[in-house]
Amino acid sequence: MEKKVLKFIKKMPKVELHLHLDGSLNVDYIKNKYNLSDEEIKNKMVADEKCHNLNDYLTKFDFPISIMQTKQELESAVYNLLEQLKKQNVIYVEIRFAPQFHTKGGLTQDEVVQTVIEAKNKVDIKSNVILCIMRGKDNENANMETIKLAKKYLNKGVCALDLAGAEAVFKTCTYEKMFKYIKDNDIPFTIHAGEADGIESIKSAIDFGAKRLGHGVRAIEDENVIENIKDNEITLEVCPTSNIQTCICNSYESHPISRLYFNGVKTTINTDNMTVSNTTLEKEYENLIENTKLTIEDIIKMNINSINAAFISESEKKELIKKVKDYNMEEE
Ligand SMILES: [Zn+2]
Repeated sequence: MEKKVLKFIKKMPKVELHLHLDGSLNVDYIKNKYNLSDEEIKNKMVADEKCHNLNDYLTKFDFPISIMQTKQELESAVYNLLEQLKKQNVIYVEIRFAPQFHTKGGLTQDEVVQTVIEAKNKVDIKSNVILCIMRGKDNENANMETIKLAKKYLNKGVCALDLAGAEAVFKTCTYEKMFKYIKDNDIPFTIHAGEADGIESIKSAIDFGAKRLGHGVRAIEDENVIENIKDNEITLEVCPTSNIQTCICNSYESHPISRLYFNGVKTTINTDNMTVSNTTLEKEYENLIENTKLTIEDIIKMNINSINAAFISESEKKELIKKVKDYNMEEE
């Protein structure tokens, strides 16, 4: 790749909409604090370039979640992540996590959310938090508690809800009642759909009124669903490296992002998990430019798509778009 493009990518203002806190812990911090070797870190926190499936990939969250059970660890995780993103010229990020996974040390979900919001406010980078409700068994009460917290902290650090977890095991369609409640309460939301599970999952998410889909790349399997996504102006939070790891795609070359983008679907580029997927936005952009038909201009457009789909106000969007455009002009 041309040096000029590489330099441009490094410095360009970036937006990240799909980033899991527990999958993006700072490796150096953990290594020092827990006295772990590179090998141990890799085994515990980084997924193989090819896992067997999403469930395999998800095992890499066990260790990070096990340590993020105190206020201090949660604070460090958020603080370290945001400092890292600031250095990469990320101008806006939506960080997501499931409060119910961080209560084993005695914190309540409310305290977990408060801690994360307070920590994020200490770093000078525009950010919001998305609270994940989890696919699973016997966690309806915990999910309901999370939904109520999203309502409580909405526009005070929290910007939306998400549904995450084992999509192929706990089907999207079974969450209809929950999303009706979320919609009735005017809480914005995104849904992981069209990753481990296919078209049916995407259809359910669209029926629930989702304006954003986590991944959504399996829309490529059905022309009608692609049209439906376009008609409803739904934005896809695409995470290419993660999709290759979980065997949804074989390679960057065959990844559907460029086909969806050139077909007119609003796509965005995200990391999913910086540590588990051993990636950054910079690496994602480089990999796509090197291996697909996407150019740096397309990557800039996708950053604008991210801003337009962000769970923020119109005036905030305008400000961010200005930053992206000003930088491009400076470079020309
Ligand atoms: Zn995700």
